[in-house]
Amino acid sequence: MKFYQNFIRTFNDLPDHTTLLVHSLSSCPFHCFGCHNYDEIIAHTPKEYKTTDDLFFYLEKSGFLFDAIMFSGGEFLIDNINDICDVLQQTRESFQGKIIVTTSGLYHDKVKKLYEEELVDGVHIDMKLPYHALDVKADQQVFQDVLRVKPSRKMVQNLLASIDLVIAHNSQADQVRTVKYPILDDVFFQEIRSYVEKRKIYFQSKVPYFLNEFLYI
Ligand code: SF4
Repeated sequence: MKFYQNFIRTFNDLPDHTTLLVHSLSSCPFHCFGCHNYDEIIAHTPKEYKTTDDLFFYLEKSGFLFDAIMFSGGEFLIDNINDICDVLQQTRESFQGKIIVTTSGLYHDKVKKLYEEELVDGVHIDMKLPYHALDVKADQQVFQDVLRVKPSRKMVQNLLASIDLVIAHNSQADQVRTVKYPILDDVFFQEIRSYVEKRKIYFQSKVPYFLNEFLYI
């Protein structure tokens, strides 16, 4: 697995934690509206990159400076599940803090496996649209405007099933979040929040939900 050459320190990705943000240079099945990582990380893989050995060397030397590590992308879970598990297992062995993975939720089986094998403490999942309320045919254009792909029922099932997994896991290291895309009406965000709150009640979960401003850069 290859990683973006800059490991980034952040203070707000996981509240009350100093987090090491690591972007894999894996691709992404989506091309979301305004994705900040698309050009630099997804469309044009940089010639310079860090390897897994570089990452573990860095964690050995500087891991004590962080109390969480967040694996992001592109889509971190697009890679082979065995490679993903190896990286996370080695991280567990060499790092004391929490391990977080960010995902769109498309790879439901992989999210499930990471929880079952306790390779992550939390997953930060994007709920980009009120998937539950949209029809893949009648609302195809909305999916294409935001995710830039043609939706399928299977895709929507996976996205919703992953969101359920995160809510059911019920850790303060988990997160469901939405970008407030300027191309969507407020009713979309109200519908997403209402859905997440209902699923939280269903699973008796206190998972944090965040509606994040769209950042123009
Ligand atoms: S899923 Fe995330 S990384 Fe992929 S295109 Fe969308 S915003 Fe970018």
